[in-house]
Amino acid sequence: EGVATVIAGRPNVGKSTLMNLLAGCERSIVTEYAGTTRDIVEDTVILGDVPLCLSDTAGIHITNDPVEKIGVDRARGKLREAQLVLAVFDSSQELNEEDRELISAIRDSSAIAVVNKSDLPPAIDIKYIKKHFQQIVYISALSGDGLQEMRDAVAEVL
Ligand code: GDP
Ligand code: MG
Repeated sequence: EGVATVIAGRPNVGKSTLMNLLAGCERSIVTEYAGTTRDIVEDTVILGDVPLCLSDTAGIHITNDPVEKIGVDRARGKLREAQLVLAVFDSSQELNEEDRELISAIRDSSAIAVVNKSDLPPAIDIKYIKKHFQQIVYISALSGDGLQEMRDAVAEVL
């Protein structure tokens, strides 16, 4: 079945792009619009030698859309059950309240900070991330840069 792994993060950080990179196909819908992923999309992938049962979620965020709200509740449930959390951040944006909420929600799980969009000029407060995560990897889910570092980080935390 694989290690229960959740891809978490606020809308638009690149969770679904990462899911597709790892799955090797267009598993999740990717758009420039926040709120694209509403339900959970799952796939089993082998990362390095490790089978992961990956869940791409809507992420945790505040929304008035009734369908999105259900997606966010499901994302919270998945996060609670997760054996491994890939906490995705957008390196080109400053951290916001939703990022901080995610960080406090996953304090007890084994987690890797996946600092995505590293192809863009950085704006993220990396010191804050370093304070909360032992493992940090810099990737571009769009180009695939940093995938090897992510494999190594996953092998190390499990
Ligand atoms: P999600 O809401 O977290 O699932 O984010 P998506 O995967 O749907 O991506 C949101 C937007 O960010 C899309 O326009 C993606 O093409 C873009 N994106 C995702 N990863 C990267 C990356 O590594 N670099 C850049 N420049 N854009 C990215
Ligand atoms: Mg998505």
